[in-house]
Amino acid sequence: MAGQIVSDEVLTTRRLRMVEEQIVRRGVTDPAVLEAMRRVPRHLFVPSDMIESAYDDTPLPIGCGQTISQPYIVASMTEQVGLTSSSKVLEIGTGSGYQTAVLAEIARKVYSIELLSALADRAERILNNLYPATVRLQTGDGNDGWPEEAPFDAIMVTAAADKIPSKLLNQLTVNGRMIIPVRLERSDLQELVLARKTSKGVSYEVLYQVRFVPLKRGLH
Ligand code: SAH
Repeated sequence: MAGQIVSDEVLTTRRLRMVEEQIVRRGVTDPAVLEAMRRVPRHLFVPSDMIESAYDDTPLPIGCGQTISQPYIVASMTEQVGLTSSSKVLEIGTGSGYQTAVLAEIARKVYSIELLSALADRAERILNNLYPATVRLQTGDGNDGWPEEAPFDAIMVTAAADKIPSKLLNQLTVNGRMIIPVRLERSDLQELVLARKTSKGVSYEVLYQVRFVPLKRGLH
């Protein structure tokens, strides 16, 4: 199919341009985040008939009614959650595995939970190949976090919750950060919330409006 004949060279050029035009230009500055976005081959994570669009400034469907986030949102959330090379990170909503890969480029260890096994299985094949020592995956409901591996220095939720799951906050280290889209009551609007845990408690900052698929509760 014509749409699939795109050389690696062309894809790399598009990826570098994506970082400059969509991410640097909109104000992301963390060098580790920019380098991760330059390195991760986003085209491997989108459905094969969407490779042509992999580096476009947009979210894309990944099957099962779910989406891979827009590149800028991935970069911005990664910057805000404040990773270092020693961070242990929990992600809820593996989806395509693209955000997981960006986290894995920067952090020491990434744990990610996906509810839908069809998506989890596909992401696992790609991530086990690219980051066998860094990424661990689980299929199931992420609302309960991953208690056996807690605490985490950073938690990223990539689906919109009705309220912030307290079990996830409990699995954050002191000085840890959690980023999560939260749906406003009786509204379609969602706000991206950054929670910071200190020895005195948790503070919340609303960053900007977003549009994510819903964080589901339990198996269905
Ligand atoms: N970070 C992903 C975005 C995926 S969209 C990417 O880069 O592709 C959000 C994902 O959250 C979907 O795959 C959806 O199935 C998953 N999800 C929804 N509710 C969940 C839950 N309770 N636990 C774990 N995953 C959930």
